[in-house]
Amino acid sequence: MARRAQGGGTRRLGPKARKTVQSVVGLLAEQYGGAVPPADLDPMGRVIYAILAEHAAVSHVKRALRTLRENAVDWNELRLHTVTEIERLLEGCRIKEAPVAASRIRALLQTCWDVLRHLELERLPDTPPEEIRLFIQGLLGAGAGALPPHLVEYITVVGGLDTAPPLGPGAVRMIDRIGIFADETPRGERRKLLAPAAGDPIAFHHLLHEHARKVCVTSAPRCGRCIVFEHCAHGQAQGTDGGAGAKAKKTKTAKAAKKAGGRKRTAGSRKATARGRKAARGG
Ligand code: SF4
Repeated sequence: MARRAQGGGTRRLGPKARKTVQSVVGLLAEQYGGAVPPADLDPMGRVIYAILAEHAAVSHVKRALRTLRENAVDWNELRLHTVTEIERLLEGCRIKEAPVAASRIRALLQTCWDVLRHLELERLPDTPPEEIRLFIQGLLGAGAGALPPHLVEYITVVGGLDTAPPLGPGAVRMIDRIGIFADETPRGERRKLLAPAAGDPIAFHHLLHEHARKVCVTSAPRCGRCIVFEHCAHGQAQGTDGGAGAKAKKTKTAKAAKKAGGRKRTAGSRKATARGRKAARGG
């Protein structure tokens, strides 16, 4: 059964949701345009950039990518590095989770080589479907270096097989909070529905990822300083201070209770001490 998206309609976003997506992407582009990998970066370089960006600030990602390129004449030479060698290069560039990133980069290059016999993702459209299936299967099942589904989606986009934006955990979180979809629309359908409004799918991925990493964080989103606040159902429900007022009130109440409890404990302990002294005196 076709699912409904915000603004009505089936199998395509309603005008309201489409406008919301476009406005959000426009605002994020102004703020995080520098997080999108440069257009002249080759497809494999873009995927490696995305892997690095999973757990690191943009400046560190750019430095790490530069370092990898300086230490290998091409991606094939990087493939011949061990995971530990790649990990050391990444650690020097302050990439958090360097072991995970190194395993993923190494597994990506090796799987690509093993299945396709080359490292040029731009050639994917000319690849037989069975090889593509094996390639994707290999990426998802590469043990410690396995790529999460959204990075495999990223590869299909970069490789020209797909135009729907990848949906990383940060993007899913933001989309849910903003309220783009009114129901549990399945992931694949969400991607297709978002595609016409998302603009460049690779830019969409990096813009939402960056905002989710810095502001729309998992447990306590910083709605009070969010540039897409006016478009977000969750943010609006929290109020203009992003729920900080309610939290402050709670904290104040908790502190007062703790203080009162502390006083009670102090009074109680005084009584106990007095009783102890009395007992010690044999009274
Ligand atoms: S307003 Fe809050 S919940 Fe909404 S996108 Fe911004 S940070 Fe996330």
